[in-house]
Amino acid sequence: MIVLGIEGTAWSLSAGVVDENNIILIENNPYIPREGGIHPREASQHHSDSIPDLISKVFSNVSPEEVDLIAFSQGPGMGPCLRIVATAARLISLKLKKPLVGVNHCLAHVEVGRWRTQAENPVVLYVSGGNTQIIARRGNYYRVFGETLDIGIGNGIDKLARHMGLKHPGGPRIEKLAESGREYHELPYVVKGMDLSFSGLVTAAQRLYDNKVRMEDVAFSFQETAFAMLTEVTERALAYLNLDEALLVGGVGANKRLQGMLRTMCKDRNAKFFCPPNELMGDNGAMIAYTGLLMYRHGYETRVEDSAVKPDFRIEDVEVRWD
Ligand code: AMP
Ligand code: MG
Repeated sequence: MIVLGIEGTAWSLSAGVVDENNIILIENNPYIPREGGIHPREASQHHSDSIPDLISKVFSNVSPEEVDLIAFSQGPGMGPCLRIVATAARLISLKLKKPLVGVNHCLAHVEVGRWRTQAENPVVLYVSGGNTQIIARRGNYYRVFGETLDIGIGNGIDKLARHMGLKHPGGPRIEKLAESGREYHELPYVVKGMDLSFSGLVTAAQRLYDNKVRMEDVAFSFQETAFAMLTEVTERALAYLNLDEALLVGGVGANKRLQGMLRTMCKDRNAKFFCPPNELMGDNGAMIAYTGLLMYRHGYETRVEDSAVKPDFRIEDVEVRWD
């Protein structure tokens, strides 16, 4: 079965084609803000301008007749962006007379991670621009055991980067700077039970920069603090749930320091650590296509009249009918 998946919950506009075993292709056309952060209207305008070309590229590599299913990211995400993708997906589905499946974006990160690693029943640390969650499966549902109480960690990193005059996305730039950090400056470490908060940490790190602390040391202190918080909560989830696998997904998961901290923590407690390749860490169409395939195989299909976008869609809302 060949599935086309379209992702566009925020900055990333991406189409992927997969079958049961392979990723056949991924085409990306991301929105990159000229200045400042992601603006929902501008991002959706970008998606709307770029999606015809993106889909044409896909269909120049895979013939439309070969595609058996159309999957799209139905939420969570920015409403204007979601609507562009949903409209395109409905149109393609009707035109090709192929079924449609609306996919939860967070579920797609988790399932593509499991598919592309050996992880079976992991505690998942999902760290992206808008989301920060610690997720594990209990029976037929994924449950969120901890999450951010304010902004996503990626959003926090991007805010700090912007404040220091660095371009969007800030993650890779902060990571690079942090490698040359020498001096740790104390920053607020905010873990409340299993939940986390990053906005005070971002403000305090911005203040360090305003007070002329070296950029490298600001980046270093920020990463050490934020990533230790994430590692602590992931470890506690492993302990509480008595699980022995951790899986890192989401755009921030590309960060080598975060990977390193989690790897050390897992080693210390005899757990296995997994992360998918970088091209599958951030938002991409292949994860939507693969999860759509899983869902369709297990009885899911979204009728056009039920395909309205869900900006607040939660992973807990989807019954997981597969192993
Ligand atoms: P996503 O929303 O999952 O596509 O992830 C996007 C977020 O990942 C943005 O906030 C980026 O700044 C962040 N990001 C990308 N690469 C890195 C990295 N190497 N280290 C930290 N954050 C990163
Ligand atoms: Mg994401």
